[in-house]
Amino acid sequence: MTVRYRDGIEIELSDGTRVVCDADHPDGDVNVVSHAHGDHWPESAVTAVCSPLTAALVRARRDVPFRRATDDRIDLRPAGHVAGSRAALVADPDGTRYLYTGDVCTRSRFYLDGFDPPSADVLIVEATYGEPSYGFPDHASVARDIRTWLAETPEPVILFGYALGRAQKLQLLARAADRERVLTTDAVRRVNEAIEAHRDVRFDAEPYDAETELRAGDALVLPMTSGRIDWVDRLADEAGAIKAGFSGWAVDDSFKFRGDYDVVFPLSDHCDFDELRSLVDAVDPTQVYTHHGSVASLATQLTDAGYDATALRQNQTSLGDF
Ligand SMILES: [Zn+2]
Repeated sequence: MTVRYRDGIEIELSDGTRVVCDADHPDGDVNVVSHAHGDHWPESAVTAVCSPLTAALVRARRDVPFRRATDDRIDLRPAGHVAGSRAALVADPDGTRYLYTGDVCTRSRFYLDGFDPPSADVLIVEATYGEPSYGFPDHASVARDIRTWLAETPEPVILFGYALGRAQKLQLLARAADRERVLTTDAVRRVNEAIEAHRDVRFDAEPYDAETELRAGDALVLPMTSGRIDWVDRLADEAGAIKAGFSGWAVDDSFKFRGDYDVVFPLSDHCDFDELRSLVDAVDPTQVYTHHGSVASLATQLTDAGYDATALRQNQTSLGDF
């Protein structure tokens, strides 16, 4: 068996079948898309194993032909990262079970259940926050801090989060804090609609465009990519708005400075370090590969804990290449 990181993560099964996960240009015998974030969805026409909601989100967000498939060898498990996200449990004909996590979060929050790790022989786990210094406060206290801040801030606020995931949670928090209006862009509203069609949740944000004037009490949710853009700075200045950033990286002081935010909160859709360690223990694999983020740090920590762990780097194979 071989696990490689080329264009996406590639698992070669004992019968030669290539399972390709989260590639830009998937060319596997079986392709898997774990979730509909931009760095995980295909850029070319493709047929892939994914959840129905991920397929709907890819179609809502991108103008690329996309067909959803199922495969008897691939068992998709809710990954708890964003709506529709899945981890893939892959059954090799020789009996080996592979678990590919994609981005993953074990904390239950809002309308998402945390990932419940199944046991597997080979684990391929994300390592975004794979350093021991990355620890998040518990979700309930982060959500309470954000709601309190939203309720006690009379000025208009601009809340930055990924169009899929953070943006929906920020809309729910702003509603819960009784902001006068919750506004967001068409790009975020398209994502809202796809999620509302598949899940029992409503976001009810009003449309925002260049004509909309921000008033006291408003909460405007903008995609993360609009941070540090001139029109956003002008808008914030003119309206006297306060800019807030939301990410696990907020545990690092540099996040606030880099994003030019007035205030930041460590609201994350990933596992922190301790949660990654607990996930690995729960899966109890004989072999671990780490991918994306602090791959070397997490692999070292796991090796020290007695696991056979390897950091996957792009275009290195897992066998003897290190
Ligand atoms: Zn993601």
